[in-house]
Amino acid sequence: MKATFRIARIAGMDIGVHYTLFISFALVTWGLARTLYPTIYPDWAGRTFWLAGAASAFFLFSCVLLHEMAHAFTALAFGLPVKGITLFVLGGVSNLGADARSAKGEFLISVMGPLVSLVLGGVMWVAYFFWIGDPSQPVAAVVAYLAVVNLLIAAFNMLPGFPLDGGRVLRSVIWATTGDFLRATRIAARTGQALALLLVVGGLAHMLLGNMLGGIWVSFVGWFLFVAAASSHGEALRQAREASKVMPLNADREPIPLFPNRPWQGAEDAPERDRRAA
Ligand SMILES: [Zn+2]
Repeated sequence: MKATFRIARIAGMDIGVHYTLFISFALVTWGLARTLYPTIYPDWAGRTFWLAGAASAFFLFSCVLLHEMAHAFTALAFGLPVKGITLFVLGGVSNLGADARSAKGEFLISVMGPLVSLVLGGVMWVAYFFWIGDPSQPVAAVVAYLAVVNLLIAAFNMLPGFPLDGGRVLRSVIWATTGDFLRATRIAARTGQALALLLVVGGLAHMLLGNMLGGIWVSFVGWFLFVAAASSHGEALRQAREASKVMPLNADREPIPLFPNRPWQGAEDAPERDRRAA
């Protein structure tokens, strides 16, 4: 079964939609049309709730795509291969062919997504604030929703746990200050797993308090992040090991330290016996 459909190709990147995106699309539309919008705008006509809900969901995932494109284009600027962007049930993911080779690259690639979400949220907020006409009309309501949700996306993604953007920012900062890529990865992955566990526990608490759907959703996000943090950690270790084998002696990139307890020692100056053992 083909799970991901290509909807566009931009700058050599495949923009794909995984079929699970339709689950979130339906849930967001349903949640807005049946609960949020009727509560805030009781005067709307029945069909307006569904139209505004669907439009909100559509523009929400468009904003998520812009967030991912910010990551992807920054990665391209740093010379990293970008295979594509996939939108799926939990949002979007940029499929980079490799991790950034410097702390600066990692920092900028990671921070650009939340920055774009922040700017989108800010622009929407200003547009709503200076709205000419009735602020309770559906278009204004969608703009207000996008303002809030983009700011939430920026804030959530900047939580300092791997594999969220904030976790990558944290890793790049520790990497830059200690020069120790593996230690930075380990710390960011641990905080990521701690955050993920908090989400799972929070979700379970919500379920016990009767908010079944919301609780299941939060727990699911937490579980996904926990697994992703663990596998990202393993992947980073594998890449660091690979880098130790293939890194040329006069590479024009920053060396990835091989030995966590000897951060000053990169691949270049590793003793011969260590290099073979690595
Ligand atoms: Zn992001």
